[in-house]
Amino acid sequence: MNRKSKQREAILNLLRSTSSHPTAEWIYERLKTEMPNVGLATIYRNLRLLRDAGEVTEVHPSNPTARFDGNTSMHYHFCCDRCGKILDLDEPVDTEIQNRIATRTGLKIRRHSLELGGLCLDCQTVEDDADITAERQHNEATRKGGALWQT
Ligand code: ZN
Ligand code: MN
Repeated sequence: MNRKSKQREAILNLLRSTSSHPTAEWIYERLKTEMPNVGLATIYRNLRLLRDAGEVTEVHPSNPTARFDGNTSMHYHFCCDRCGKILDLDEPVDTEIQNRIATRTGLKIRRHSLELGGLCLDCQTVEDDADITAERQHNEATRKGGALWQT
């Protein structure tokens, strides 16, 4: 195997070993020790090649940074609005919607994606904590006799 295909293989193996839908930078950080002459641009170039070859998919959450998935089977994603975490959803793929639209439009539909957004379990706790802290501060201020807001 030549050097270029070794690099691509290493990226693919790394992507297949994680379910974190990493960024190119994350991959670069992990591979730079074993491949010191590989730069971030090389990682990006290889990811695009792998994507075009159908070996990985590029995930498009409402996120400015491209994220990649080593699992190319059709599945749905959840993206956390707060921390950007992308989770695979253990939910059957709705082939009915594809059939329905294909029948109605005559389009040959091969795939579809679904991305749900909101707060992950960790971030729900953080938001709850933030609410509680705000409430406590408000109560303390009120107890001291000071109004928080002038009316
Ligand atoms: Zn989160
Ligand atoms: Mn995924």
